Amino acid sequence: MAMHRFFITPHEIKGDRVTIAGGDFHHITRVLRLGPGDKIVAILPQEKEFTVEIVLVGPDRLVGRILGQARPLAEPPVEVTLAQALVKGDKFDYIIQKATELGVGQFIPFQAEHSVVRLDEEKAEERRLRWQKIAREAAEQSGRLSLPLVREVTTLPEIFEAAGSYDLGLFLWEKEEEQGLKRVLQSARGARRLLLVVGPEGGFSRSEAALAREKGLKPVSLGPRILRTETAGPVAVALVLYELGDLGGARGSD
Ligand code: SAH
Repeated sequence: MAMHRFFITPHEIKGDRVTIAGGDFHHITRVLRLGPGDKIVAILPQEKEFTVEIVLVGPDRLVGRILGQARPLAEPPVEVTLAQALVKGDKFDYIIQKATELGVGQFIPFQAEHSVVRLDEEKAEERRLRWQKIAREAAEQSGRLSLPLVREVTTLPEIFEAAGSYDLGLFLWEKEEEQGLKRVLQSARGARRLLLVVGPEGGFSRSEAALAREKGLKPVSLGPRILRTETAGPVAVALVLYELGDLGGARGSD
């Protein structure tokens, strides 16, 4: 069976020892019921992953011994940021989970004109922490070496202002009739940092689409069928990482 994977920070490592406390400690010892002699994988985000043998379990922390560096890199060569409009219920949780498994590097939730959900500041921060936790669990489970960041809830104009820092900004527009995602990606082979912007249940307004174009984003279609927002995001990510990244490749190849 595959070993369970946990993110750690540099200060949890001393020499060849790793100390794990908090939620992961609880998960490892109470939920998975692992103890001395059992092995886990500890991941130092963006850097390395180690095979760790548990040597000691205390009341609130465990100590493990680093046996060696584990299998490297399950990170895509392309960094995808998914800007996703706020949506109802637990759909956002689902989007974060699926897109993290697929390989998204960063999430930016935003309030769209037609977003039904409105979050005040406190609620938005509460949600962000919850989404960050979902991203962490999905990243651990899927073998990722980096933890996708969930940014603060923002607005479309703010996202557009920062769009210049990406090689390619794509505005997924259900009403786009000329440009399809496939063609656009095929002519963007060298792009390494991509921004994908996905609308809410009610879709984007014409003025949002006009602003996107004005700010240099490319409106693109995902095809002739209208997808639900929680389908559109993960599908767009999958298509981008298939066309420009490592999705659909063999494990260990690039
Ligand atoms: N209610 C709207 C559809 C919204 S779909 C309508 O009936 O027209 C929600 C979001 O998913 C859209 O804003 C868009 O970002 C994305 N999306 C869904 N289908 C798409 C498609 N075929 N092409 C591009 N984007 C799509």
